[in-house]
Amino acid sequence: MASLFPWQTPVQFLKGVGPKRAFFLGKLNIHTLEDLLYFVPFRYEDRAEIKKISQLEPGKIETIVGEVMAVSLNETPRRRMKIVEIAVSDQTGVIKGKWFNQQYLKTYFKRGERVMLSGRVKENHFGGRSLEMESPVYELVGENETQLHMDRIVPVYHETKGFSSKQIRVLMKQVLDQYGNQMPELLSSDLIQKYRLLPLSEAIAQIHFPDKETPLDLLNHGKSPAHRRLIFDELFLLQTGLALRKQGMNERVTGIKFHIDETHQGPLRRLLPFELTAAQERVIREIKKDMSEAYVMNRLIQGDVGSGKTLVALMSILTAMGNGYQCALMAPTEILAVQHYFYLKPYLETLGKTLTLLTSDMKKKEKDAALESLASGVCDLAIGTHALIQKGVDFKKLGLAVVDEQHKFGVLQRATLAQKGQQPDLLIMTATPIPRTLGLTLYGDLNISVIDEMPPGRSPVQTRLYYGKQRDRAYRLIQEEVQKGRQVFVVCPLVEESEKLDLKAAVELFAEFTETVFPDFKIGLLHGKMKRDEKEAVMTQFKAGEIDILVATTVVEVGIDIPNATIMAIEHAERFGLAQLHQLRGRVGRGREQSYCLMIAEYPISKEGKRRLNAMVSTTDGFKISEEDLAIRGPGEFFGTQQSGLPTLRIANLIRDGAILEAARDEAFAWVALHPNLEDPESLPIRDFLERKWRGKLEWLTMS
Ligand code: ADP
Ligand code: MG
Repeated sequence: MASLFPWQTPVQFLKGVGPKRAFFLGKLNIHTLEDLLYFVPFRYEDRAEIKKISQLEPGKIETIVGEVMAVSLNETPRRRMKIVEIAVSDQTGVIKGKWFNQQYLKTYFKRGERVMLSGRVKENHFGGRSLEMESPVYELVGENETQLHMDRIVPVYHETKGFSSKQIRVLMKQVLDQYGNQMPELLSSDLIQKYRLLPLSEAIAQIHFPDKETPLDLLNHGKSPAHRRLIFDELFLLQTGLALRKQGMNERVTGIKFHIDETHQGPLRRLLPFELTAAQERVIREIKKDMSEAYVMNRLIQGDVGSGKTLVALMSILTAMGNGYQCALMAPTEILAVQHYFYLKPYLETLGKTLTLLTSDMKKKEKDAALESLASGVCDLAIGTHALIQKGVDFKKLGLAVVDEQHKFGVLQRATLAQKGQQPDLLIMTATPIPRTLGLTLYGDLNISVIDEMPPGRSPVQTRLYYGKQRDRAYRLIQEEVQKGRQVFVVCPLVEESEKLDLKAAVELFAEFTETVFPDFKIGLLHGKMKRDEKEAVMTQFKAGEIDILVATTVVEVGIDIPNATIMAIEHAERFGLAQLHQLRGRVGRGREQSYCLMIAEYPISKEGKRRLNAMVSTTDGFKISEEDLAIRGPGEFFGTQQSGLPTLRIANLIRDGAILEAARDEAFAWVALHPNLEDPESLPIRDFLERKWRGKLEWLTMS
């Protein structure tokens, strides 16, 4: 029986651990036997072949074991380097080990102790032949420990003060000897056969102490059979959790069954000066289908900046309104909420609908009026920021909630908005294209629609990179464009996340442009500290073409729509994140003219910074950008795990393991479909694992 295995035994009670060592293990996030068994080595060393010093071949990476004969600390006079040197002998010869600027090694090595060194062998010829290794991997090895630490592929673990990799290795061996063969299987034998997976107990044994024949390369890249098995498990369990949640959402939650009628969306279609793209039409159909069903809709619209998501949302809003319901549109920043408001207002008012803005900095009187109009049902659509989900905001009959730029909101906020109505439908829009692997995981419980086509007649934005001194060339292009009647955004740098300094940079640049660089042009300034009506005034002027160059802090990051703007110039582009750069670039190229994104970078530029800038120059494809972003930052940062509700993955890597993820997802969803609520005996181990590992984090598991 699955539950009989003592997964949850605190490490403190394992043989030879005790409270003090348990405390140190806790620092590695190892609290239970299960944590320990799943504490996977971060690297492996091949110490299968230990050579005699006399047999070493210069130029090769080799491993030797011997006794420390001498330890010394030297200093190079000129380069001010501290060098620790040891001499090691194994009866057949002597070799030197050398480390730079690691003085603590002076006391780590002691004469007479046995040590293992592994590294590239160098041969020196000063006064006879002598061998040495520079910065070899090292480890002290006791007389009787040879079996565990050598003569095999050796696991290397992350260490902490009080617990060395070697000590973990000893503990792991002991625990595996004691419990290794009682471990219950998690997956069905069908699944194990279908994917040729190792049995769980064997995978755990092999991941710590691999067979000698296992290619080192596979182990170090997380691709050994043992890794494959444990990665499959982890992703399978994650997807099972998501499948359960999705099942819960789709099957249990009855929602509004909207009536679909041509008279809801038809009038807007006739108002639009253009045709919707095929992709927009397809997504609108998908949403209509969801809305017409008696269940709550949870749909994510994914589409690159400028692909026309807002109109798709508006179509759905009209369907809800046509059925007599109110709608809410929530945006991550005030400026974007305002922007949506002004974009939608003319359409909605022409169609005889009412809308109101709701932001946190509204005057009390204004706000009260807005709240009243929502509570009484007079107002059809509320557009706002987080203010929409505060206490005191009540709708008479909320039928559809739209959340723009989903990645900036947490799962919880999504749910809070939904609670403002009686199971309203939920539509989420994101302009940050989510890499496929991550999308499957994060949004496994949502249905996804992709707008994979841009409105016609747009030419890709040309992206150019200038380094500090080349700034004049960027300014010349700006000048030419303005003379042709076009408009320009200039975005100022983020200064260490400080809004005050951001502001200073923008104000200074504004002054410089006005006084010296572009004295003949009309320059505008937009920043987060301005009052709302001031911001609105600047936006309106810019939109009307009364401002040529708009100097702004990153408040323009999302959503602003100015078709006549053909240049997005970004100061200190090296300081921006990749997604942010791509968003900014998306602000131009919305009209028919050739547009430019001018990135002005200043040294010093980090390696990642350079990679981001190069990615921007080499592609305008949002999906490629986000794959690269994910690769640079890793999934943890890409979406803060806390915010996304994604449990931390211990072994799987969403970038590396995309193929396994897809298989695991298919199997998990199939499994949940066949084994409702995991109540049958075959599903028990799975349920067990899920409840144990993720109960705290996968709230949906407790929903049923
Ligand atoms: P997104 O929110 O996806 O970044 P928007 O919805 O803001 O994009 O649309 C960008 C611009 O494209 C808006 O000016 C919008 O009116 C326009 N637009 C939307 N759909 C079309 C279309 N099918 N043809 C032409 N222009 C469109
Ligand atoms: Mg948008």
